[in-house]
Amino acid sequence: MFQNILEEIYQEVKPLILNGQQADYIPELAKTDPLKFAISLTSTDGKHYDVGHTDEKFSLQSIAKVFAFTLAYKIKGDAVFKHVGVEPSGDPFNSLIQLEQEDGFPRNPLINAGALAVCDILISELKNPEKELLQFIQKLAGHPDINYNHKVYESEKATGYKNRALIHLMKSFDRIQNDTGPVLDLYFKLCSVEMTTRELSQTFLLYANHGQLPLSGEQILTKSQTKRTNAIMQTCGFYDEAGEFSFRVGLPGKSGVGGGIAALHPGRYAVAVWSPPLNSKGNSVKGMKALELLTTKLGWSIF
Ligand code: GLU
Repeated sequence: MFQNILEEIYQEVKPLILNGQQADYIPELAKTDPLKFAISLTSTDGKHYDVGHTDEKFSLQSIAKVFAFTLAYKIKGDAVFKHVGVEPSGDPFNSLIQLEQEDGFPRNPLINAGALAVCDILISELKNPEKELLQFIQKLAGHPDINYNHKVYESEKATGYKNRALIHLMKSFDRIQNDTGPVLDLYFKLCSVEMTTRELSQTFLLYANHGQLPLSGEQILTKSQTKRTNAIMQTCGFYDEAGEFSFRVGLPGKSGVGGGIAALHPGRYAVAVWSPPLNSKGNSVKGMKALELLTTKLGWSIF
């Protein structure tokens, strides 16, 4: 059933001429081919269903913020929420305005300011944050070859002025414990992680599987922590379009400016879609459409 539905979606979405443009504020991302499209679904019984360019790696960007948050939550438990909130921002992902009005306390871990605060926690807690964060993501993915993309990292490091502004603003409110340089560096590394849609749907299965890794059986987050992480994705995973995504798709998920979206149905499946052109809010235009078609055709959503 899943395979047929993915193929139908591919046929319906592929010819659509939708307005959208690759992110170009990170120059390396502007080079991606706008015609690439891939969708992969992994069901909780471990079966994979794929259509399109599912073997090509793409830049996870903000999707990877979910993994950094997962690690910080695992290490610190509820104490993580002293550093970052759980409210949707309703603002663009890199907005400074709310942060200034709210004394430098980031609304949630999935906007840039929140992910920077999470990277700050990881630097405080881990001996070798860059290596251990990557190893953690590799473990979630069940793939030892998942890696940072050096070119994307360098490209964002050379141009990430807004993120520098965010972290300095937080630092001015005493919200960042470490030097800003290493925190930014870990953040840029995190955003540069790349995966195929197949690897990403496999990695997201954890959140559909109540916090347990489906392959090894290891419990990464408790059931309650997983529910909470999913709730944050539901309300905060799509920048200032989280309401629209809930309305049209009805699943918790996270998008990134690399054109990827990962989402999940608790107890059923995880799904990853990739198509680089983004709408004005930074979400993949065809990705949103594909996931809307998926939940419509399946007749299941979490609502
Ligand atoms: N690295 C990107 C940035 O910080 C991530 C943005 C995103 O994917 O939403 O601007």
